[in-house]
Amino acid sequence: MADQLDRRDGAGRAPAQRRRFDLEYAPAPEATDHVRIREHYGLLIGGKWVEPRSERHLETSNPATEERLAEVAEAGEEDVDLAVRAARSAYTRTWSKLPGAERAKYLYRIARILQERAREFAVLETLDGGKPIKESRDVDVPLAAAHFFYHAGWADKLGYAFPGRTPRPLGVAAQVIPWNFPLLMAAWKLAPALAAGNTVVLKPAETTPLTALLLGEVLEQAELPPGVVNIVTGAGETGAALVSHGDVDKVAFTGSTEVGKSIQRTLAGSGKRLTLELGGKAANVVFDDAPIDQAVEGIVNGIYFNQGHVCCAGSRLLVQESIAKPVIDKLKRRMATLRVGDPLDKNTDVGAINSRQQLEKIQELVASGEADGAELYQPPCELPARGFWFRPTVFTGVAQSFRIAQEEIFGPVLSVLTFRTPAEAVSKANNTPYGLSAGVWTEKGSRILDMANRLRAGVVWANTYNRFDPASPFGGYQESGFGREGGRHGLLSYVDLGS
Ligand code: NDP
Repeated sequence: MADQLDRRDGAGRAPAQRRRFDLEYAPAPEATDHVRIREHYGLLIGGKWVEPRSERHLETSNPATEERLAEVAEAGEEDVDLAVRAARSAYTRTWSKLPGAERAKYLYRIARILQERAREFAVLETLDGGKPIKESRDVDVPLAAAHFFYHAGWADKLGYAFPGRTPRPLGVAAQVIPWNFPLLMAAWKLAPALAAGNTVVLKPAETTPLTALLLGEVLEQAELPPGVVNIVTGAGETGAALVSHGDVDKVAFTGSTEVGKSIQRTLAGSGKRLTLELGGKAANVVFDDAPIDQAVEGIVNGIYFNQGHVCCAGSRLLVQESIAKPVIDKLKRRMATLRVGDPLDKNTDVGAINSRQQLEKIQELVASGEADGAELYQPPCELPARGFWFRPTVFTGVAQSFRIAQEEIFGPVLSVLTFRTPAEAVSKANNTPYGLSAGVWTEKGSRILDMANRLRAGVVWANTYNRFDPASPFGGYQESGFGREGGRHGLLSYVDLGS
């Protein structure tokens, strides 16, 4: 008995009990045979798939295996110009003349087709971007469809969204999106633009173009009039050519703060409308009266969801000093249960890092955290031999001045800081150039409201984290950008209300 007691595990189970409960997960890979990836993709311009005039191409690969998936066109300036012309022509000839109820029908159709082809989209998103299938299946694709459904509802009711005003579309919208939620970001951008009567040129990210291209096929299937949405794949240069094109009326960008600033400089004085959704360094604040088990789940969801490639990730944990030890102990135990590996496996919690470049950025910042003297913990887990991987990581003993407490890591890396009073929590949480999101964990409703008022963040979640809804506006302050996406506020970015 004494021997058995000595060997009890963290959950207090003796070896005999443990044998009964230690269940290994059998591999549960999602099938890929229903996804047809073409060898080669052109550009969607004016309702046709065309070869790029630039004659340049890029490859996209699976970050979990490093295997090449397809070749995609790299649009040059001439291609971008053709796409903008097609969007302009579709705007003046067709889309701006359609009654809202007719535009709504197309949006509903797109939403329904997305639902019908959900499995195809989920698998393709996971193959091209490395995120776990359970996330692309349960979050990305359903939310993308929800955005089209939601905005279909607004298309013929814009007058009610802005009572007493006469909302008019802006014209041609240039939309540049990142690689962390490729389909979902396309939906966030396209749905409100189309609902409000604008036409679009969309530039997906270089490493994850495939679901946007499949969405192009869905738009054809929905018989969206030619030129209403044009898709130009390419790298940063393609994006730069698009946002600086003289005939776009509106630019919507999601990505890094650095590129966002350069776009703002390019557009300064042009009179063009701009919305920027940039980086973040959110504080997830846990008070001593919080339900700790729930909070630990929220912390894990906040930072390890989508490998931490999330602009609103809860990348700084601020925990009240009196409960810091039990929270961190529980967090480490929970981290040890996260399954890292094959993103196509339905049991996987943490998939592949999106690209070698992003992996190197994470490694560099983690090395800086260690050099600064923070204490690193990573649960033991085997990583696949090929592909780009990073273990879920938590740093304790972090000072506010460390780079890991200041800079966006955009990976599965959590920095833990402590506080004693609510005032100290607010001052630490707001000690960042960003202002996108925050989380508050406490039993007291009054404290939630007080904190939400004092935290400088566009979104504050209370006793939950990373919740998204098309009806709820999302966006930031300061270096996290400006403008909102979702809800009535998001529509405002795509209409002219006159004077
Ligand atoms: P970028 O900001 O470079 O990429 C976002 C999008 O902008 C991509 O489609 C990109 O194309 C395009 N782009 C790049 N340069 C320009 C330009 N000069 N003009 C117009 N469009 C441009 O982000 P990265 O992919 O380089 O990631 C760097 C860091 O940015 C990450 O480590 C992360 O910290 C942060 N990030 C934040 C995101 C967020 O949602 N807040 C999303 C993505 C990144 P291409 O992909 O071909 O380069």
